[in-house]
Amino acid sequence: MLPGPNILRICTQCHDLITQATLCSGNSFGARLWTDGFRRAPMLPILPWLVECPHCRTLAWIDELPEKQSDGEANAPHGEAPSPERLHELLRKRPLSRTKKTYLRQQLWWAGNHPRREDTAPLPLSAEEVVNLEALARLLDSEDEEQRLQKAEIMRELGRFDDAAALLAFDFDEEFSTVSTRIRERVAARDPRVAEL
Ligand SMILES: [Zn+2]
Repeated sequence: MLPGPNILRICTQCHDLITQATLCSGNSFGARLWTDGFRRAPMLPILPWLVECPHCRTLAWIDELPEKQSDGEANAPHGEAPSPERLHELLRKRPLSRTKKTYLRQQLWWAGNHPRREDTAPLPLSAEEVVNLEALARLLDSEDEEQRLQKAEIMRELGRFDDAAALLAFDFDEEFSTVSTRIRERVAARDPRVAEL
């Protein structure tokens, strides 16, 4: 992995500094991928868009915070990705753009699936997860191939196999062939569990 330059940001709430890490290039060596689109790659760190200020815990979209010109010596902590509880809180409280809502609901989807990634024992969706997945499916655009595939995966995880199959009846681009094949196979098996690729 080749780290890009750090960007210093100013928290608009407490005015303290937050470091935003960037990436020049990364590689997916040793990466593990799942049907819900989540990827765990040791050489490719996750750079959260929404972060919790390490000083005052205020939530902020990192690229919307003002930049502080660095003298090269400033050393500020990074912002961490917020907990699912805080993501829910944000979704309830503020009017958000479609892109932001999609991001938050996707983060919640992945967080909910984390306990299912290693274990093969079925772990049913919670009522909260069902609500989140239905809302996320409504936000996704079936005309966009990647979003269509995500929507199909959501339908599968919700156990709506016919809806998933209808979305999968589509000629996906080569780059999506591994994931679309895996999702189709799990739909045919009537299996709603997130699967590793
Ligand atoms: Zn702050």
